[in-house]
Amino acid sequence: MLIVMKPEATAAQVEEVLNVIRGLGFKPHPMPGATRTAIGITGNPGAIDPAHFEMLPGVAEAIRVSKPYKLVSRDLKHDDTIVRVGDVDIGGTKPAIIAGPCAVESAEQTLEIAQIVAACGVTLFRAGAFKPRTSPYAFQGLGKEGLKILAEARARFGLSIVTEVLDTETADLVEEYADIMQVGARNMQNFSLLRRVGQARKPVMLKRGMSATLDELLLAAEYIMAEGNYNVILCERGVRTFADHTRNTLDLSIVPAVQRRSHLPIIVDPSHGTGKRHKVLPLARAAIAAGADGIMVEVHNHPEQALSDGPQALLPEMFKQLVDEVKAIHRVIADAEAKIV
Ligand code: PEP
Ligand code: MN
Repeated sequence: MLIVMKPEATAAQVEEVLNVIRGLGFKPHPMPGATRTAIGITGNPGAIDPAHFEMLPGVAEAIRVSKPYKLVSRDLKHDDTIVRVGDVDIGGTKPAIIAGPCAVESAEQTLEIAQIVAACGVTLFRAGAFKPRTSPYAFQGLGKEGLKILAEARARFGLSIVTEVLDTETADLVEEYADIMQVGARNMQNFSLLRRVGQARKPVMLKRGMSATLDELLLAAEYIMAEGNYNVILCERGVRTFADHTRNTLDLSIVPAVQRRSHLPIIVDPSHGTGKRHKVLPLARAAIAAGADGIMVEVHNHPEQALSDGPQALLPEMFKQLVDEVKAIHRVIADAEAKIV
C-alpha cells in the first residue's frame, strides 16, 4: 500500500496518516517529494484495505503496490534520491568518484594512496579493513587496525571513508569508523546483515551479487530501507557469465533498468567488473555514458606488491586521467540531455 498525499496536505494531516498506520501495527515510511509526500507501509503480512486511508483529510489516493518491492520504487518516490556524504552528493548533478586500494595493507600504503586520490580532487576513499576472500588462507584484512588507519587517512586528507562490513558481529565497529558502509557482492543476500545496516545511521553501498537479478538487487535494498535507512547506493560490479576474457561481465544495462524502477542512485565498479587495469578506463567511460551516478575504482601505487586485486588496480597517472575523463563525459551527457528536454 502506498498513500499519496495531496500537494496541499499539511504536516498535521501527514502525521495523522502515520498514526493510523502505526495504530494498525505497521511501519510508515514518509517520503517527501518536490510536489507531494508519499507514505510507504511495511510490516503488513497481507493486503490492507484502502478504506482505512481514503477518507482521511489530505489523502489523495491509496494505491495497492503490485511490485515485490515498495520503498525502493519510483512509484513511492518520483524524485531521485541524493545521498550526501561529506561534500559529495551521490545521485546529484555531478558524477561521484570513489577510489582507493582494494585493502588496507599498512598505514604507509594506505596513506600514500589516500594522498594520491585526494590530490586528484576525489574525497571518497575506499579500502577494505575486513576482506571477503575466496581462500581462507588469503589476506583477510587488518580488521580494527585497518579501520584506525582509515580514520587517520580521513583526518589527514579530509576524506570520507567507504569500507566493507563483512558480518553482523563487526557491524558496530565498522559503523563507528565508516562514512559509507559497503555490503559486498557475496553478502548481497545476507539478510541479517542487510537488516543490521538498515538500522545503521550511516549510508550503505550495496553491491550486486554476482548472479543476482535486478529484482533481487532491489529487494536486497528494500531490506535495508524497510529498517529505516533510506541512504542506499546501489553498485553494479559485474556478474558471472561464460565469458573468460574478463573477471566478470560488467552489466551496464542495469543502470537504466534501475533508474526506471528505483529512485536510488547507482554507481558502477569497473575494477571488479573487469579484473584488469587496461579495461577499467574504457568501462568507466561507458558507465558514465550509460547514465551511472558515479564510479568506484581501485588504485594502487605498487600494484605488483598488492595483497589483493593488484592486476585491476589503476596506477596513479591512470587514475588521474580517469577522473578527468569521467568529468568530461558526464558534462557531455548532461548537456545532451538538457538539449533534448
Ligand atoms: C571490493 O570492493 O573490494 C569487493 C570485495 O567487491 P565485491 O564485493 O564486488 O567483490
Ligand atoms: Mn577488490
